[in-house]
Amino acid sequence: MIEVKKVSKVYGKKENAFTALHDISLSIKSGEVMAVVGKSGSGKSTLIHILTGLDKPTKGDVKSGGQSIFLGDTDTWRGANIGIVFQQFFLQNNDTVLQNVALPLKIQGISKKPREQAAREALEQVGLSDKLKNKANNLSGGQKQRVAIARAIVGKPQVLVADEPTGNLDSENGEAIVQLLFELNKNNQTTLLMVTHDEDLAERCDRIVRLKDGKIVTISAGKHAAKRNKK
Ligand code: ADP
Repeated sequence: MIEVKKVSKVYGKKENAFTALHDISLSIKSGEVMAVVGKSGSGKSTLIHILTGLDKPTKGDVKSGGQSIFLGDTDTWRGANIGIVFQQFFLQNNDTVLQNVALPLKIQGISKKPREQAAREALEQVGLSDKLKNKANNLSGGQKQRVAIARAIVGKPQVLVADEPTGNLDSENGEAIVQLLFELNKNNQTTLLMVTHDEDLAERCDRIVRLKDGKIVTISAGKHAAKRNKK
């Protein structure tokens, strides 16, 4: 479980100060699928950055397993617990698919054989076992996002965060990626936190957090959560 406790974020100083998050509190339960929705500028990315420890709150705290994530080495905590998928994929285009997926484990100092084995398993989960040796550059958008998802799950994180994961895909490929994320939640019990503009997609999540001007407007249950794996 991740707990966001009275988090505020102020960018800039003095007359340039801008409050992007106002006193946000939120608990993300283990194994749930949560959507974060809101217009551009509502604070979604800021919230995601803070609850994954990529940025620090100005006030408040984020707790994981009851402990503040900012007390120890936040990068180590993130590496062990969180996988992140971005709209823009962020792949190393001239590296192979296998190298891209194994990279987080390489950074953690894991030796070649076990990291490549883990990368193969992650690529099997996303249905790309036949592309291990391809350069990332030579893949379609949907395939690139699958590689990015494999890279996010290679360390078997408890929480998968997806920031507009279908934003750069057409609707067919986008739906396939959404199905894959829901499958990973179901099969691996991975908590899934998804930022989206897509109302239909949000309604397929267990809970929907709506942000406006850096504040939570509502937290509601997704109307079609029960149906998401049967589409
Ligand atoms: P969203 O992801 O919902 O589009 P963001 O979290 O990116 O929203 O931004 C929330 C608000 O904070 C916006 O008004 C944005 O301009 C502002 N903001 C984001 N990052 C910075 C920054 N580094 N410096 C100043 N303002 C920022």
